[in-house]
Amino acid sequence: SSFEELGLAPPILAALRRQDYSTPTPIQLQAIPPILRGRDVQGLAQTGTGKTAAFALPILHRLMQSAEPPPPRGCHALVLSPTRELASQIAGNIRTYGRGTGLRTALLYGGVPKQAQTRTLANGIDIVVATPGRLLDHLGDRTLSLVATGIFVLDEADHMLDLGFIADIRRIVTMLPPERQNLFFSATMPAEIAILARDLLHDPVQVEA
Ligand code: AMP
Repeated sequence: SSFEELGLAPPILAALRRQDYSTPTPIQLQAIPPILRGRDVQGLAQTGTGKTAAFALPILHRLMQSAEPPPPRGCHALVLSPTRELASQIAGNIRTYGRGTGLRTALLYGGVPKQAQTRTLANGIDIVVATPGRLLDHLGDRTLSLVATGIFVLDEADHMLDLGFIADIRRIVTMLPPERQNLFFSATMPAEIAILARDLLHDPVQVEA
């Protein structure tokens, strides 16, 4: 099967050709169709399996397909990542895959001043990739709202647990609309992560790299 057969929009297919991605990886083949249909997905996958594109490509597609005229800018998809490095990689990948879509991705992490991030948010964004602490900072400052966030991705959930972020994640989830699509990825599924997944996900499709 090919990316064309998965039904991704032409600008996304063009970006994949520029990246020389010829064939979807197993996690991409399993995850992309249910995500395109709006289902929740729970993925057991490590870095290196192509899991970023597995959620990024169908998210870009879904945000492109939404209403004509396009909805006002705002955080329509939120990706939470445990570290600055991972968040940067994810945002970079989403920007690469989304170059022809017109969608804008903001990257928010701590350890740097907030002003530049706040300006980026004020200029209009569609997708936010963030670490939990800095995201809560912006939510507290009201420089970002999650009222329009219809897609929520939790990446590297087990790593979030190791870094003590579970309470922050649960707080963030309370600020999301109750009607939303949830995508949950973890390399391992310890008990606390299985409980978080159960609390968050609605009838998820299980995929495994
Ligand atoms: P990830 O597991 O998301 O960190 O991706 C691992 C690496 O595989 C990244 O460098 C991606 O650019 C690359 N990659 C992802 N999907 C594909 C694909 N279908 N074909 C070739 N390379 C890919």
